[in-house]
Amino acid sequence: MTSFVELGLIEPICHAVTAEGYEVATPIQEQAIPAILSGRDVLGVAQTGTGKTAAFALPILQRLSENNRRPGPKGVRALILTPTRELAQQIGKCFATYGVHLRLKKTVITGGVGMHPQICSLQAGCDIVVATPGRILDLAMRGHVKLDGVETFVLDEADRMLDMGFIHDVKKIAALLPSERLTLLFSATMAASVFSLASGLLKNHLRVEVTPQATTVERIEQRVMFVAKDKKRDLLLDILRGQSVTRTIVFARTKHGANRLAEQLAKSGVKAEAIHGNKSQGARQRALADFHSGRVSTLVATDIAARGIDVDGISHVINFDLPNEPESYVHRIGRTARAGAEGIALSFCDADEIAYLKDIERTIRQPIPADEAHRYHSDAIARLRLAPAVKPKARQGASRPAGGNRQRGGGGGGRTGGARRAA
Ligand code: AMP
Repeated sequence: MTSFVELGLIEPICHAVTAEGYEVATPIQEQAIPAILSGRDVLGVAQTGTGKTAAFALPILQRLSENNRRPGPKGVRALILTPTRELAQQIGKCFATYGVHLRLKKTVITGGVGMHPQICSLQAGCDIVVATPGRILDLAMRGHVKLDGVETFVLDEADRMLDMGFIHDVKKIAALLPSERLTLLFSATMAASVFSLASGLLKNHLRVEVTPQATTVERIEQRVMFVAKDKKRDLLLDILRGQSVTRTIVFARTKHGANRLAEQLAKSGVKAEAIHGNKSQGARQRALADFHSGRVSTLVATDIAARGIDVDGISHVINFDLPNEPESYVHRIGRTARAGAEGIALSFCDADEIAYLKDIERTIRQPIPADEAHRYHSDAIARLRLAPAVKPKARQGASRPAGGNRQRGGGGGGRTGGARRAA
């Protein structure tokens, strides 16, 4: 495990990431940061959730601040292209957070908002511009921004960029950049189209790859079960009493929910234990040891507690509550199918969780087949899945790690999961 100081990052940047609760670098960061600092092009094969934004943002900030020349009028020093407005905003925030102790000027340029404020913010030049392709190209064509002084060019989520039909805009933008520049390209997959785009943009690059989540996700048999909230416990008991269920992790949203569920299961004769952040380290370790030895067959866990669970032979992961962050879903189901084994992930979905389900399916880029052959199946809830998408509401007490190490590694590999380097 490598610290950010060991990667060669300067104090103001290390200070900012520590304040964010990052303790050590993720695999993609370990590989990409030194290369980018040394001025090498990088092709990063990594998905959201692997820490890829910091993998490029931190060394870019450092390079800009070390070579602190001012951008010319309408000039840009680092241009980050990303496919969606939301992602652009998110990446813009990351630059602001990581660069809080540096004096660099940043702006986010996307469609869907007025051009005038953007023209003003670009007028005097910017160190960092995070943009969606259409709008920045439009501004460049109208002469409001000059891209011929770009020192670093990042193409984020290149595969999505191509899926969304941005290839022509990207190529036009690339044609406006100087040939002497640093180029970083990130993509979740390496389809032939991404490969050909990459070879036209990168020079003597280092390829950095984190085991893609999809590999893990694909190995896991996933099912969604539509069930009313008050029937979830009965459904869970039916499943846990089934033949093939040997070692199971049940995910609950809150610590309280995990406790209550474990108690109820124990009363019904299931050997269950809860594991969550309110339990002492000793109690957690005992529960894990019992799980490992088979004395306990079912662990009821919250997301954060589950991060430390590294037990092979987990036959089932059951999402008693669906997580409101799609990446947590990938992380949760990755607890099964470890070490190449196959696993089963069952997700209970009540009427309030349909939006989370849709979000998850978008992230894993595949629909989760429904299991309707259980006695608590609700057709009414299943039908809601077909209704137009509603933006998920923020859920209280959602188990997003706050403050602590907010590491999210790729799929079943977890954060230590198989970073590998290739030339
Ligand atoms: P990304 O893959 O860039 O979308 O990052 C996923 C999440 O991981 C974000 O919430 C980051 O704040 C967080 N993160 C990135 N790097 C680290 C790290 N080294 N330690 C802990 N959390 C991190």
